Amino acid sequence: MTTANVNNTKIRIFGFNKEECEVLRTEAASAFAYYEHKIGRYPRKQLDLVLGGMGMEYPGIVTAGYLHNSLLDLESLKREVDHEIAHQWFYGVVSNDPYYDGWLDEGMATFAQGLFNVYRSKKAIDYTYIDKIVKEYNKYPVNLPLAQYPPTQRSTYTYTKASSELFKWFEHRGGRNGAEQFLNTYYHFYQNKEVDSKEFMRFTKAYFAMKNDAMFHGWLTAQ
Ligand SMILES: [Zn+2]
Repeated sequence: MTTANVNNTKIRIFGFNKEECEVLRTEAASAFAYYEHKIGRYPRKQLDLVLGGMGMEYPGIVTAGYLHNSLLDLESLKREVDHEIAHQWFYGVVSNDPYYDGWLDEGMATFAQGLFNVYRSKKAIDYTYIDKIVKEYNKYPVNLPLAQYPPTQRSTYTYTKASSELFKWFEHRGGRNGAEQFLNTYYHFYQNKEVDSKEFMRFTKAYFAMKNDAMFHGWLTAQ
């Protein structure tokens, strides 16, 4: 086991490969510090990262190592760690039904993870790529109950399409900073509460002072 202290939280990393643990210790600490700084405080004194399982989140503990039964290379493993840690904010603190509104925690965690990577790389957000995703995946809304997606399309919509649509909102609304401010407000408004798609739409319309549902057209439906 190796540990990192970030602000008031002890992050413990459990794994068999010492070198890998060391790399992921740095990764976990950087992602954690970013989320705390930009989104809001993590409510616990400890966060455990257990390596060697599939990527999964629980309050106060995340696992990483595999995706769809394949062992991840180190770079992909870092992304998975960033993603699972983001769930401590979106799922662990702001809750949602993972079956009926799976996109809420998966989309938000993917969005936060993406923002962290933009922040760290100091590169501009690649809106050409985001536009491509938004246009290409237009068959389903992101907020169907999970069983209504073909299994191979489920994460495409609830993770990739959802986070891309969120990125797109901020293209002309402050980019990364605008998005971080939005997540910060959303997190503080709904911490320790459960959100559903309808509530999310109500919140965002008020946040952006929108009078109609145009910003949800084609990807989010009122259920
Ligand atoms: Zn996830």
